Amino acid sequence: MSDTWIDTAVAIDNQSQLLCPRCGSFYLHHYDAVFYEPGKEDAESLVKISVKGMTVKTELVPTATSGNPSLRRDGFSMLFWCEQCGQDKPVELTISQHKGVSLMEWRLPPEGV
Ligand SMILES: [Zn+2]
Repeated sequence: MSDTWIDTAVAIDNQSQLLCPRCGSFYLHHYDAVFYEPGKEDAESLVKISVKGMTVKTELVPTATSGNPSLRRDGFSMLFWCEQCGQDKPVELTISQHKGVSLMEWRLPPEGV
C-alpha cells in the first residue's frame, strides 16, 4: 500500500481553525477516524480501531497493509470534507510517531473510502 501525501503543510488560522490543504478554506468537516496501535516498534501486525459513522471496528491486521501513517510506531487518521472543494473529495489528516517526534500531515484517503 502506498500513501498519496498532499504536499501542503497542515495549517491553522489565527482563530485555531484548521485550513483545507487544497483551497485554504476553514469550512472543514471531520468524520471517520482510525487509530493504529502496533504495541511495539516494527511489529508485524497492529490493532486497528476504525470509527465509521456509528460503527466501531477493532481488528488485528498486517502492519504493511494497515494504512498506518507511521512506518514503525503509533498512528492516527481522520477524514475531512471541505465545503469549498466538495464533499466527494475527502482528505485525511494524519498524526504519526517518527523518531521521537509527532508528524501531522495530509494525505488522500485509500480507494473506497
Ligand atoms: Zn477545500
